[in-house]
Amino acid sequence: MARYTGAVCKLCRREGKKLFLKGDRCYTGKCALERRAYAPGQHGQSRKKNSEYGLQLRAKQQARRYYGIQEGQFHKYFIMAEKKAGVTGHNLLKICESRLDNVVYTLGWASSRAEARQLVTHGHYTVNGSKVDIPSYLLKAGDVVSIKAKSRDSVKIKTVLEANASRPVPAWLDLNSDNLEAKVIALPERDQIATPVEEHLIVELYSK
Ligand code: SF4
Repeated sequence: MARYTGAVCKLCRREGKKLFLKGDRCYTGKCALERRAYAPGQHGQSRKKNSEYGLQLRAKQQARRYYGIQEGQFHKYFIMAEKKAGVTGHNLLKICESRLDNVVYTLGWASSRAEARQLVTHGHYTVNGSKVDIPSYLLKAGDVVSIKAKSRDSVKIKTVLEANASRPVPAWLDLNSDNLEAKVIALPERDQIATPVEEHLIVELYSK
């Protein structure tokens, strides 16, 4: 699956808000958006107000960038969300949240979703006891995610765990920090999702 490999800070500057794509650096004065709070490019400082379509497009791009999902996959998630019972926008966010890379990040087992994606690809995690190295793997209620026994001694994993130990874990995940295992109690309700996404704008965009 293709992924964005360009300069990620440009994405934040393009959206005009912090997307927290670089882990610890995002919380320091080195954050590119704090130093240059305007869109990249020649006309970055003179952009006009967005149209209704522009706002919808930006909402969709921001959501994709938060979760690190390519357009094709994101659209597939939207189609899946439409077919499920309930509010389409909430369903869409639930699907994004249930990705293994997002759960690894949410548990504090990675400093950013990009790092989570990389660690998953390197095979550091198991789901229900079996190794899973697919970042887009969708978890469901009852699944148990764990750090692979062999990986627990890795310097990288230890450093990441230490750096993110104080990150609050939402109630839909039951984390056991001692045995580095977490159970998905249920997929999150809208008010349990902290990612600032305006999903109604995304639904409007895809429904045109
Ligand atoms: Fe975005 Fe983080 Fe880069 Fe700041 S440091 S612009 S929040 S990715």
